[in-house]
Amino acid sequence: MSTQATDSFGLSLKQLGKKGHSGHSVRCMQGLPSSQVEADTSRMAIGFYALGSLDILGTVNTSTTDVDRQSWIDWIWEQQSSGVYGTGFKGSPYMIGEQDVKPLQLAADYSEFDTPSLIMTYTALLNLAILRDDFTRLERPGLIKFIKACQREDGSFGALPSGGEADLRPLYCAFAISSMINDWSGVDIDKAIAYIRTCESYEGGYGQTPYGEALGGTTYCALASLALASKSPSVTEHISAQHRATTIRWLSSIQQTEGGFSGRTNKIADTCYCFWCGASLELLGAPDVANEAALASFLEKCQFQWGGICKAPETQPDPYHTYMGLATLSIYNITKGNAGVDPSWNLPSLHVSWNVTDETAEWIRKHLSSKAGQ
Ligand SMILES: [Zn+2]
Repeated sequence: MSTQATDSFGLSLKQLGKKGHSGHSVRCMQGLPSSQVEADTSRMAIGFYALGSLDILGTVNTSTTDVDRQSWIDWIWEQQSSGVYGTGFKGSPYMIGEQDVKPLQLAADYSEFDTPSLIMTYTALLNLAILRDDFTRLERPGLIKFIKACQREDGSFGALPSGGEADLRPLYCAFAISSMINDWSGVDIDKAIAYIRTCESYEGGYGQTPYGEALGGTTYCALASLALASKSPSVTEHISAQHRATTIRWLSSIQQTEGGFSGRTNKIADTCYCFWCGASLELLGAPDVANEAALASFLEKCQFQWGGICKAPETQPDPYHTYMGLATLSIYNITKGNAGVDPSWNLPSLHVSWNVTDETAEWIRKHLSSKAGQ
């Protein structure tokens, strides 16, 4: 899609529905520590999408109470558990029932069937940072042992130490956690990077596993991992000029005429892929390749009348797509140089490879990264 096509979309975006999106996210948070009968193994991740949205909207402290935030912090720490593979966070107190959960100090050892996950550990750390916890309760040596236990012989990572699929998603989480705690001793970096390179797809982008079809989400996971492992902010250290160019061309080809990105060749546009693909272009140093006006216009149409952002226009909103829509707008600041765009679209900037606001990233650096070795 040509970047010259902006005029056909016009740049007169009405107010971004911040209040509604904030309200939608708060309602989603209420399911986090409360008494849901049905155990939801990914409650930690849902909490991240809701809290992450509030963080971007700048309403964490104004839309929630001190008591709520403290109860969420305590609930997150209750999910930190230790066992034979080390220490990590679970997505919820599933398998053992909420009433049986004991704080870590009462030895909440996990069993073989109730292990923490790298993905939930990554989102737990982001949640704690957004809630401005000081991380003093983090079991660092156990966490490093856990990361190590999740790496496979071929360099890939599984979300769990034993069994399950191994691919680029948990690998990204291992890289993000290691860079946040500023300790890479749990990762064989060379092996992991060699694995990422085997996931390079011929059409550009990266497959979820070696020789797989290129997907928007895993392309982000690969590029963000390479960025986190680089000495410079650029990913060019670990990607050939040719693959970089092919990936940029492929990403550009999956921005659809309605303005949003699709996740793979020949699919329809979806809000979450606006983030995965838009962030990938940013990591490749080529954000200008995206048609920003078309992208923002698509996201405007995906807003739900009563709050929240949907995966496509006229569908139902959910915390995941609400967060991904807002995070995309944090990368592509559409208000810059566009006088017709309401200033409400100006959102705080994003730390693209950790996927959290720069302000929260700064908190992580100060309270987590700088405490390495303690
Ligand atoms: Zn989606």
